[in-house]
Amino acid sequence: MINLTIDGIAVSAPEGSTILEAAKLANINIPTLCYLKDVQQIGACRICLVEVKGARGLAAACVMPISEGMEVRTNTATIRAQRKLNLELLLSNHNRECTSCVRSGNCELQALCTEYGVKEYPYDGIKKEFTVDDLSPSIVRDNSKCISCRRCVAVCNKIQKIGAIGASQRGFATVIGCVFDRSLADSPCVNCGQCINACPVGALHEKESIDDVWAAINNPDLHVVVQPAPAVRATIGEEFGMEMGVAQTGKLAASLRRLGFDKVFDTDFAADLTIMEEGTELLGRLGNKDAALPMITSCSPGWIKYCETFYPEFIPNLSSCKSPHEMLGAVIKSYYAEKNNIDPKSIYVVSVMPCTAKKFEAARPELGRDGMQDVDAVLTVRELARMIKQAGIDFARLPDEDFDDVLGDSTGAGVIFGATGGVMEAALRTVYEVVTGKTLENVEFHAVRGTEGIKEAEVDLDGKVVRVAVAHSTGSAKALLDAVKAGEKSYDFIEVMGCPGGCVNGGGQPIVSAKDQMYVDVKAVRAKALYDEDAGKALRKSHENPSVKKIYDEYFGEPNSHKAHELLHTTYTARKKYE
Ligand code: SF4
Ligand code: SF4
Ligand code: SF4
Repeated sequence: MINLTIDGIAVSAPEGSTILEAAKLANINIPTLCYLKDVQQIGACRICLVEVKGARGLAAACVMPISEGMEVRTNTATIRAQRKLNLELLLSNHNRECTSCVRSGNCELQALCTEYGVKEYPYDGIKKEFTVDDLSPSIVRDNSKCISCRRCVAVCNKIQKIGAIGASQRGFATVIGCVFDRSLADSPCVNCGQCINACPVGALHEKESIDDVWAAINNPDLHVVVQPAPAVRATIGEEFGMEMGVAQTGKLAASLRRLGFDKVFDTDFAADLTIMEEGTELLGRLGNKDAALPMITSCSPGWIKYCETFYPEFIPNLSSCKSPHEMLGAVIKSYYAEKNNIDPKSIYVVSVMPCTAKKFEAARPELGRDGMQDVDAVLTVRELARMIKQAGIDFARLPDEDFDDVLGDSTGAGVIFGATGGVMEAALRTVYEVVTGKTLENVEFHAVRGTEGIKEAEVDLDGKVVRVAVAHSTGSAKALLDAVKAGEKSYDFIEVMGCPGGCVNGGGQPIVSAKDQMYVDVKAVRAKALYDEDAGKALRKSHENPSVKKIYDEYFGEPNSHKAHELLHTTYTARKKYE
């Protein structure tokens, strides 16, 4: 341990810590902008400046290592003036239209300007002109708001290992974007939205579908059905100041009903359906010596585009199952439409997703039939929160309500789909009982839980050992697939989710400031909300869902039947990095 003083307070911190990390141990707040825990520390923005006794000039706390006996000051008149000056310089080349900005109220630059009393723009000068890039189906980039902090670049390159964006030119001319000034739509971007979550300001946001959804709700000729993904209940409360890590399932259903949707179903139902289809597909492949193994899950559209673009040789390994919300969209426009005598062409399906890549996925031509898409519009959790606020609904005070029958019924296995390892655990609960014919007493597979980048387990199915692995983030998927390709690792079944932590940390989730990310393990806390809900459910295995049994009895016959294949399965296409 290294001993130092910060603002006169004695602090001990592990050797190798930075001043920022040591200050955190003493609950001393040093402001940051370009710093993002576990993603980037480059000392570029000069907001975390501190004074170190005996040193020349000010030091950037996020990169300066601590040393024995060091004396640090974080809050002097000089430091406050320098930080304010640096903010004013950032604002000199910034589109300051806060009132119409998607991040107003949740913008790290805006918050710092308020904290440091920035009231004027003394350095107003030439501003760079930019065209908003809104050609991607998922992501909008408005560089007039960009402060060149590079947090998006770091997450795309270091965590996701995609490299769709970078910095070009230098100094005042620096531009963050794709190579040769291309649009994100014309790049290897997989639409994961992790760059949005990393961005401290309003330079990146999702392609909004709010107006389309309001128009559908207000159209008397449309029957508008909504379905929220498992991970939405874990986070929607955060948008209304509620505690992180507490699922708001009942208030979510109530708020959707009050927005005016005709039916409020639950993607968790389709998660259970996915397990029936995917589990059966896995058992079929395990029993066929010519089948492609390991089988790899297909729920995450960011992961699917990554596989199609960077690892097309693994396309035969992808489960042919559509993702759960696409399955439910297909079921709504077939089974539900037939049962209720509704013309499927008049049904408008809205998915509320933790994910920006779902917007790209919903538009894939193979995910629909008879001229209809399975899903008509995708809202992120952030967009849903904006709609709830626009409607004047007091979310935190809503009474709890249930989802509508029968496509709103789910088990605990469906709920945990939203966390890394959840799809694998749900599948194992069902596959175990189907293969062994025995009751699985302890349904919790802790080996596949948690936020470690790659998790492995072996499961004994009455003498047949199944080797499984779980990867979250495309960067971890890359490491896993490289090991499989090199013959270093061998598995039967792999779960991949494109975002770090899985859907609870998807690119459409509420944005957590860099400061809060220093103190909270967002992925673990949000996942706990889902595991708690699972633990409280009477039914925790997908094949026990009575509504899933009913739909097989009445409509599909059995998992992987011809009809199930027609509606619930899909195909994939190899892609070039630059089309
Ligand atoms: S990015 Fe922040 S400071 Fe800039 S306009 Fe938006 S809210 Fe205001
Ligand atoms: S959406 Fe994902 S892949 Fe695309 S630029 Fe952002 S981080 Fe990179
Ligand atoms: S887009 Fe956002 S995260 Fe990326 S460099 Fe600009 S301000 Fe930083």
